[in-house]
Amino acid sequence: MNDRRIFGLETEYGVQHWHPEGRRLSPEEVARYLFRPVVEWGRSSNVFVENGSRLYLDVGSHPEYATAECSTIDELLASDAAGDEIMRELIAQAEERMHADGIEGSVYLYRNNADSAGSSYGSHENYLLRRRSEYRRLTEALVPFLVSRQILVGAGRVVPAGVWPEGQGQAHYAFSQRADFVQEGVSSSTTRSRPIINTRDEPHADASRYRRLHVIVGDSNLSEHTHLLRFGATDLMLRMIESGWPLGDKEMPHPTLAIRRASHDLTGTAPLQLRDGAASALELQEHYLERAHAFVERHGAHHDRVDQVLDLWEEVLEAVRSQDTSGIDTRIDWAIKLRLLEDYRARHGLDWSSPRLAQLDLAFHDLARGRGLFQVLLERGRVDRVIDPAAARRARTEPPSGTRAAVRAAFIRRARERQLAYAVDWTTMKLNEHPLHVISMKDPFDTSTTAVERLFDGVVDPA
Ligand code: ATP
Ligand code: MG
Ligand code: MG
Repeated sequence: MNDRRIFGLETEYGVQHWHPEGRRLSPEEVARYLFRPVVEWGRSSNVFVENGSRLYLDVGSHPEYATAECSTIDELLASDAAGDEIMRELIAQAEERMHADGIEGSVYLYRNNADSAGSSYGSHENYLLRRRSEYRRLTEALVPFLVSRQILVGAGRVVPAGVWPEGQGQAHYAFSQRADFVQEGVSSSTTRSRPIINTRDEPHADASRYRRLHVIVGDSNLSEHTHLLRFGATDLMLRMIESGWPLGDKEMPHPTLAIRRASHDLTGTAPLQLRDGAASALELQEHYLERAHAFVERHGAHHDRVDQVLDLWEEVLEAVRSQDTSGIDTRIDWAIKLRLLEDYRARHGLDWSSPRLAQLDLAFHDLARGRGLFQVLLERGRVDRVIDPAAARRARTEPPSGTRAAVRAAFIRRARERQLAYAVDWTTMKLNEHPLHVISMKDPFDTSTTAVERLFDGVVDPA
């Protein structure tokens, strides 16, 4: 078994301009302000930045940051945190320019999954797979895990009345932000049908050897521990499936119904239909965790945080089982938010239908330091961290070291030092003035910068 995998996380952000009296800019106008400095140095609103990650503005108004390729979860946490930092810098610059243009007010940046207009945006996970594994079997085996995974790593959501059961139902708290927007199980379309797994075959690597698994069902997480559990448990699942480890052949014929059911049931016990019988989200996760324990016992831990992942997995299941979240409410997003909202509810005697709670839910995802509720908890030490904050700060400018992102970063740094225009994507790099010298990086684990050095050595400065 090859022990290494590439991870990547794409985050779409919500932006909103707020002004007490004056006209509010539309999200499109805000996004244009945000990307002005990017366009100025990159000549495009779709660029790769110095840490090897991608920053872009797609159609619509949700800026996106896609982490560089990471070969460990620690690298992923750092690269992802760097994305938030880059977005904060862009917000600060945008506000300055807006004020210079006579536009008052503030820009809010949200790391969440739905805006007030009811449109949903995503948090997409990428996992490198070897081409030889049977892809269809793998995705089918993964779906019941992903459907029930939200009880571990959902971001939590205040649900208004009438949403669940559909057209009726009281206001309540649910595990997931994204579950109600999911429309399909496994499909090749992202926007039209919003599946759990997107099967479009774009490996961003040698297609004869690799595939990229694109999981688009996740909530945007905030806590590092929640990310650790999300990627750590999913990676273990993939390892088990890839090695043919028996998982009991759970098949889920109606995943979109099941994912809603599981999200709206904080007890974790609602029965979810399987091809053979039914199981609750809690039972499914207990089963997968038991399998993972046995797998690790047999094959050993393949990275330093495997035991931490397994322990956290168990702790969250125990919290759901006992309906006591006090053991996880400094680490798991939905529990951190629930505790905050429950405290507030109790203090003010509010019902879940109170608009004040919906506002706090949104404010939880505000990324501004000293203002966003999650950020404040983090600053006060009420949320536990996984990585050293210094590693996150370094990742703002430094790429992950174990993948080709390091080569891309070296290329970008040299091109910018010498002020040479360049074009980069996940697998290629070239200088616009030397279009025939394309550097190709089909192997995501290749960290050799020889080709980059050779290219720049051969370039004579115009001066
Ligand atoms: P889009 O989001 O525009 O539809 P996309 O799904 O190709 O396109 P990008 O936003 O470009 O996504 O992000 C790709 C993500 O996949 C990044 O986080 C990157 O680090 C990761 N990635 C790149 N190559 C691989 C690979 N071979 N295996 C797994 N992940 C990869
Ligand atoms: Mg993307
Ligand atoms: Mg994508």
